[in-house]
Amino acid sequence: MTGLTTDLRRFRLPLREALTTAHGEVLHRDGLLLSIGDGTHIGWGEATPFPGWSVSDIESSAAALATVLVALSVVEDPDDPRLDHLLDDLEPEPAARAALSGAIADLRARRSGVSLAATLSVAPASTVAVNAMISAASPGDVAEQASAAAADGYRTLKVKVGVAEPAVDVERLAAARGSAGSELELRIDANGAWDVETAVAVLDDLSEFDISFCEEPTKGLEAIAVVGARSAIPVAIDESARTVDDIAAALATGSIDVVIVKPQALGGPDLAIRAVRLAAEFGATAVVTSMIDGAIGVAHALHVAAASGLDRAHGLATSSLLKADVGPAPELDAGRMVVPGASGIGIDPFDTLPL
Ligand SMILES: [Mg+2]
Repeated sequence: MTGLTTDLRRFRLPLREALTTAHGEVLHRDGLLLSIGDGTHIGWGEATPFPGWSVSDIESSAAALATVLVALSVVEDPDDPRLDHLLDDLEPEPAARAALSGAIADLRARRSGVSLAATLSVAPASTVAVNAMISAASPGDVAEQASAAAADGYRTLKVKVGVAEPAVDVERLAAARGSAGSELELRIDANGAWDVETAVAVLDDLSEFDISFCEEPTKGLEAIAVVGARSAIPVAIDESARTVDDIAAALATGSIDVVIVKPQALGGPDLAIRAVRLAAEFGATAVVTSMIDGAIGVAHALHVAAASGLDRAHGLATSSLLKADVGPAPELDAGRMVVPGASGIGIDPFDTLPL
């Protein structure tokens, strides 16, 4: 028997529009594609750390995965437990871990002839609802984006807040609710923009628009829990939680209602599904989300969402933000994303990657 075949390739995906974040402008997404093959099947994993957000960056991810390739060269069997030990070694590098965990899970699922979702759940969904993202600055543009999303079949809209003054956000949410109608679910994401007192006051002002939850109203798990305990709107943790342990500690406060689960940020589909189940144990819920990952990363997140048992909108409709991708983006139909039916993640990357 010959050893596993491996390959590591770099890619750069230009965004359609520059993204302004607290850490500066993001013009493109740099990542790595890892493949592990057994001679018959190939499993794919992706590492696409988000600058200023991820613990790891592209260079540390590449270095960590280069070490993994050396270790993998002596492994012959995809079920060898040494593969799982390699995952433990990658704990400080979640994006690299997500690539290795994803590639192993994809390869094992393909060898079994089942979808990745079917290896994570006994009853995976064949489609999952996804939310539309609304980031327009002016209330008029928000109203326009909201009605366009509703016309496209989206039943859940997520509005970015915290960039403008609170009074403007109140107008923006009034516009979103007004144009979306009373049936659609509205969520907001402040990305940690407010301090605790501002967050409590703004959420109180926004509560009349029937908002299901606010992601990261302020920075830090403890502060978010304080807001959650006092707020008129349930709160969600996202970037303040780096690990499954962080999520457990936050849920233990009893003031967190929703956990945003990003397989790329946590370290792969195995940890992501663990986070989903942890939220359920605490009586909270989860939303599986991509971080403007390439198509392979989105596919992993889609399978986690399909296995989550959560029939609510997930944050996976990010591929349209990219001008070029590493593979085919998932099919979207009336606000629902279709889980590919083939084994493993159900897609393969393009032969030529954008660089
Ligand atoms: Mg968020």
